Formats: sequence, C-alpha cells, structure tokens
Amino acid sequence: MRAIADLEVGGRVVLLRADLNVPLSGSEITDDGRIRASLPTITSLIGRGARVLICSHLGRPKGEGYDERAGGGPSLGPVASRLAELTGLPVELAADVAGPDAARVAAGLGDGQLGMLENVRFEPAETSKDDAERAALAARLAALAGAYVGDGFGALHRRHASVFDVPALLPHAAGELVRAEVEVLRQLTESPARPYVVVLGGAKISDKLAVVANLLQVADKILIGGGMMFTFLAAQGARIGRSLVEQDMIAEVGGVLEAARERGTEIVLPVDAVAATGFSADAGSQVVRAGEIPDDRMGLDIGPETVTLFADKLAGAGTVFWNGPMGVFEFPAFAAGTAGVAKAIAAVDGLTVVGGGDSAAAIRRLGFADSEFGHISTGGGASLEYLEGKRLPGLAALEAAS
Ligand code: ADP
Ligand code: MG
Repeated sequence: MRAIADLEVGGRVVLLRADLNVPLSGSEITDDGRIRASLPTITSLIGRGARVLICSHLGRPKGEGYDERAGGGPSLGPVASRLAELTGLPVELAADVAGPDAARVAAGLGDGQLGMLENVRFEPAETSKDDAERAALAARLAALAGAYVGDGFGALHRRHASVFDVPALLPHAAGELVRAEVEVLRQLTESPARPYVVVLGGAKISDKLAVVANLLQVADKILIGGGMMFTFLAAQGARIGRSLVEQDMIAEVGGVLEAARERGTEIVLPVDAVAATGFSADAGSQVVRAGEIPDDRMGLDIGPETVTLFADKLAGAGTVFWNGPMGVFEFPAFAAGTAGVAKAIAAVDGLTVVGGGDSAAAIRRLGFADSEFGHISTGGGASLEYLEGKRLPGLAALEAAS
C-alpha cells in the first residue's frame, strides 16, 4: 500500500474517505473517537498543501437519496462542526454528496483547506450491489478530486462505491489510521508474541463463530464470556435457564470445541455467572455456577470467580485481542465482569488490542483511558473480518496499483 507521503497532494483536491460514523444522541456527538482517530491523516494532508475534501457515512439513512434526507438519516453537520473545533480550521459542508454543491465546495478549496461532502449514504448507489450503479456514483465522486486517500478503516470490509470503486479511478494511498490498524492486525495474525490470549464476548455467537474458528488456529487460549458463553455451555449440556442462546449454533460450537481440542488451544469458559430475574437494569440477581442457571433466570454477566480465572489466564500474556463485553455492561449491575476483565487486560505488558464498537464504548464508559490499551480499533466488523482471514474489499482496492 502506498503511504500518503508518497502521493502527490500539494495544490490538489484530495478526496479523503474517512470513517466519521460517530454515535449521536440527537445532533450531539456522544463519542468523537473516530473523528480524533482521523486527525493524523487530515493534519498531514493539510500540512502538505492538499485541498482536503472529506467523504464519510453517518448512521444508516433509510431514505432513497438526498431528497428524502430529512426523514432518512443524519446530516454530517455536527461532525463538520466538531472537526472544525478539533483542527481550528473552517470546514465547509456541501449540501449534497456529489452534486453541484459538492463541486462548488471542491472548487472553492484553497491549499491546506478543508471541505466535507454530505453523508455519502444519502446516495443509495453507495451501498448498491449493482456494479454499474456504484460505478456511476464513483465516477461522480472521482470527478471532484485529483487524488484519493483511504482512511476509513471501519468501512474497509464494505464493497461500497466510496470505499471500493473510487480508488480504482484516482491515484491513491492509504491514510495513517488504515496503516496503523492494518499493522496491528498483521501483528495479531503473523507472529503474535506468546502466549496469545483472545477474549471474546458480546451478544451473538453467530456473528463471531467464524472468527473463533480462525483464531483458535493461532491463539494459545480463548476466554469466552458475554451472551455467547451460554451457547458454549449449552453445547456441553449445561443448564442455562433463560439466558441468551442460539440453539441452531450449538452443533457448530461443539465442532469448534472439538477443533480446539485437536489443536491444543485452551478454550476457557466461565465457572460462575450473575443470574438475573429479567433483562433490566434493576432486576434482582445472584451469583450462581455458570452451568446451573435456574430455569427462571438469565445470565447477564460473568461472575467474580470467572473474573479471577480470566485475570489469571491473562497474566503474562504476550498478546491479547479482546472483542465483546463480558456482560450487559449498559446496566451498572451487570458491568463488573467487563470492568474486571478490562482491568486485567490493561495490566498486561504485551500488546493489547480492543476491537468492537461496544467493547470500545464499554471501556470508555467504565472509566478506562484509551492509553491503558495498546490499540483500540475503530472498526469492529472490519477487524473481525480481517482476523477471519477474509480479504477486505477496501483494503484490496488500496493495495491495487495506481
Ligand atoms: P462489539 O460491538 O464490541 O463487537 P457485540 O456487538 O458483539 O460487541 O455485543 C455487545 C452487546 O452484547 C452489548 O450490548 C451487551 O449488552 C451484550 N451482552 C453481553 N453479555 C450479554 C449477556 N449475557 N446477555 C445478553 N446480552 C449480552
Ligand atoms: Mg456491537
């Protein structure tokens, strides 16, 4: 992949595909982590006299195109304002994605100035499965610029026009964030310092079974918590009460356990769990053996003995990859497992990587500083697909010669 340092950018309009898809509450940004993570590339391009035209998606507009945007999805307005605050530079937001106003903003940019296109998903062609539809939008986007920089790591697993099709049309390079993320993922897959411990949690095993199957070929230990633990426990015939379970995944989970045994990868399941009377913040709860959840209870967190067990398995790790909260951390009563495991991971001297939107939100919510971890990925889906061994379309497009 070409680095931005090797791309001619001075005096040119550079279309920067970033991932500024931040969580919003109304028009308020609740976590600007992704905007901050995009700053190194933006600053570097500005410093070299590029005319930076930023393109991003935000949320999931349902509307069929720009005209319906009022009911369809969020404007990038709050993001442009936040970016202006963070850079100290004006950021002009076009009223459209690749229409007349985008052309006006692009033409008005001076060297070292910043502009932004409206939410690229206002254009239904952005996410179209039809190659010709995407190509038409890609051509309109490419016509705005003289070069392309791909820095939207969180979108690289998408075969979308602005991610996959535009780089083929312009001289292109990978931004600093993409390079940093990919470098970490390479360390996780190519020659991880050992022992390599993977911690997996979150809601559904069906989202993550493929990554478990792949990781058990490289990791030394896999610790399983979160909602997915119950499908593993069920596969062993345990009593899981009304806990989250995916019945149709039980056979496949059994296969994963068997594959782990064959390769000698240790899969560590919880020994205790916090069993609640219902799925709510104020549900009554008690700690029980993980495989003996009463029929009328549901497990919403790992228990304290499991936190100690997992901390013990993590101590001395050379590499840790963590994806997925250990419990329903959104409810303070069921956040202790996630907090305990986060603390144990933060104490590891080796490389620690946190992936997953909810996992990153959880550690910030629980009061950990980003600096307590080696790397917090901005892309959950993209990092998981990379670790599954899949080729990310956006990455392939950036790797192609230009
Ligand atoms: P990430 O975004 O980090 O990849 P996921 O999206 O897979 O994580 O899962 C996060 C969600 O999993 C959280 O909203 C959390 O409440 C939920 N979760 C964790 N443990 C449980 C559980 N025991 N039962 C139900 N949901 C759970
Ligand atoms: Mg999630």
